[in-house]
Formats: sequence, C-alpha cells, structure tokens
Amino acid sequence: MNEGSRRAKPLPYGRQTIAADDIAAVTRVLQSDWLTCGPSVAEFESNFASFVDSKHAVAVNSGTAALHCAMHAIGITAGDEVIVPAISFAATANCVVYQGGRPVFSDVDPRTLLIDPADIERLITPKTRAIIAVDYAGQPCDYDALRSICDEHRLWLVADACHSVGASYHGRPCGSLTDLTAFSFHPVKSMTTGEGGMVTTDNPEFSQKMRQFRNHGIVQDFRQRESVVQWEYDIREIGFNYRISDFQCALGTSQLQKLPGWIDRRRQIAERYTSQFAECRHIQPLAVQSYSEHAYHLYVVRLGSGQSPAMRANVFQRLRSIGINVNVHYRPIYLHSFYRERFGYNAGLCPNAESVYGQILSLPVFPSMTDADVDFVVEELLAATATASSIAA
Ligand SMILES: *Cc1c(COP(=O)(O)O)cnc(C)c1O
Repeated sequence: MNEGSRRAKPLPYGRQTIAADDIAAVTRVLQSDWLTCGPSVAEFESNFASFVDSKHAVAVNSGTAALHCAMHAIGITAGDEVIVPAISFAATANCVVYQGGRPVFSDVDPRTLLIDPADIERLITPKTRAIIAVDYAGQPCDYDALRSICDEHRLWLVADACHSVGASYHGRPCGSLTDLTAFSFHPVKSMTTGEGGMVTTDNPEFSQKMRQFRNHGIVQDFRQRESVVQWEYDIREIGFNYRISDFQCALGTSQLQKLPGWIDRRRQIAERYTSQFAECRHIQPLAVQSYSEHAYHLYVVRLGSGQSPAMRANVFQRLRSIGINVNVHYRPIYLHSFYRERFGYNAGLCPNAESVYGQILSLPVFPSMTDADVDFVVEELLAATATASSIAA
C-alpha cells in the first residue's frame, strides 16, 4: 500500500549465515600446507556422513557435480532413460544428459510439488535405469512408495537432496534413504561452502567410482598395485576435475555444526507464515506430509487459481518493487528450449506441473530473518494479493 514501506536493504529469498568461527576455520586452512586434497576434505566427508547417517560421503565442487557423479556411479550411458520430476532446478535433468541419457519427466503432486509416485509407472520402459527424486523446498519425497517402484522394476533410486539437508523421512535423515543422495552447498542452500556439493551412499563401490570420477578418472591404488615407477598412474574411465578445496571443506564442517539450529529457525519462520495465511483463500502454502520433518530451504505458496497467472505476476512485481525479493522455483524443465529441441518435449507433458508453475512464489526464508521481517512480508503479500484479485475480478 504505502510506498514508504520499501525496505532500505532488500530481503532476499535466501541467504547464507557466516560467523566469526566460520571465518576462523577457513583462515586456519589458508595458513596450513593443504589448500586442496588435504585433511579438511576427509574430515568434512566423515562429519557429513555421520550427520546424515550414511556410510560414505564424497565431497565435490557443486551440487551439479554431485548429481553427475551419481549418474556415473550407476552407469548411466547413451540410450538410458532416467525419470525426474518436471519441476526442479535444471541440473536434476542436465546430469542425465551429461552421460548421454534421456531425462523422462514425471508430473508432480500439485499440493507438495514432489514427484508423484502414481505418475511414474506409466513412464517406465525397458530403457529406464533410475529415478531421481527431488526433495522440493526441503520436504522429503515419499521414499517408501518410490522404493517399492524401484524394487519392482529393478531401478536405482537417487535423491536430489539439494534442498533437504537436515530434513528427515519417518525420522530417517535425507542422505540415508536412497542408493545415492546429492547435496549442494551453494550460498542460497541451508549450509554453504561457497560452491560445493556432496554425494552420500552406503555402497563402497559407488564411493570408490565417484572418488575417481571427481579426479579425472585417475585410479588411486594403481601405484601400489601395478606400477614399478613412482610417477605413473592409470586412467581407465574418463573423469572430471570436480574436486573441492580444503578451505571450502573447513567452512562446511563449521557450518554443519550450526545447521540443526538454523533448521529450527527455518521451521519457526515457516510456522509463522503458515499460521498467518490460514484465513486467506488467495494464498495456499504447500502441504506438509505427516511423514516428513521439513527443512524449509524454500517457503513456497500458491497464489490464486492457476487459471490466471496474472495474479502471480502482479504480486511478484509489486513485492520486488518494495524490496521483497521473492522468486519462482521453477519453470518445468522440459519447457526450456534445449529440452524441446534436443528431446522434442512440448507444453502439455505434465499438466499439474504446468498449472502450478503459474501459481508458485517463494517467500524469503533464512535463519537470520527476524519475526518483524516475516510479518512485513505477510502484510505486503496480503495487500498485494487483495489488490491483484480485485483487478482480476
Ligand atoms: C541448487 C540445486 C542444484 C545444483 O546445485 P549447485 O551446487 O548449484 O550446482 C541441483 N538441484 C537442485 C534441486 C538445486 O536446488
């Protein structure tokens, strides 16, 4: 309403929390002998593995690299199909394409935006190798339902848990629920290493394969076993440089200790939003399943009916103009030009995803946000939706 309410400092939809102990941890490593391939990498991997209750954790330099490592580990190759949800960040599908595979898009449940197990069966062909489930916004997928589909059809189950570090399913942490789980530590995610990622698995062969893949495909034990000369090494499968540095991992270990407290704060913020939207018919928060302990990487609402995307556009513009930097996560992946042109996908493929894409808006949520910030967003969103719905009427 009043132009005077524009914030001096815009509220982002997410942001990192960095404290003096994080800076000290990074500085210690910068002054040490190891900037990369040193002890802080192994330390972060072992701390992370125990945090998510997984046997192995392989640290890499992005969430995208983590997903690519997972696709390599399960042997995705030309002609293979992998089922992914229509709504996610593009990297969820891109990692299949990197390996020469074809991403096949499943529709989502419009109440949660999680992959809809009921839509998966019809997509399975003799070429299907895996499902990548995305814990959208920080809520775990229905892993029991997904596991039984995968068992029946002999498919690998991979989780894109880039949103869900710190979440759990029936009390079991994300990172321990699937054959492989990928995490991201980009600053907008719930904990950060600047850029960074991790793959967790209980399978020692997968872990070994991914360690090679992140380091050009260099076979680690070649020297001891086969070579008589010290300088020689062997490459049997092509890999990449997906290594992460020691100072990034020191930041990761420091952040990980504080993650549970941050997730608690994210949950409080989400509760504060949800309770204030209860009376408002234009604003519907996404549903929370009874099995999940949600990590709220995102707080997403659906606006209006979906028949009128003008509502969302109006509200988006208005909130942005007063310094509330809302966002939209995400356009259905197959609608991007690359996917239409390369794979022949078209609008109409996943009707729920397309309709809900016209409604969704991600509101600010990050641990250092105050209750007053939350109330400011609520007030402005209520005003913006009231105006937008009266324009629409
Ligand atoms: C952030 C994100 C990724 C990619 O992570 P990066 O670290 O940015 O490479 C993949 N999938 C989802 C769902 C994400 O949110």
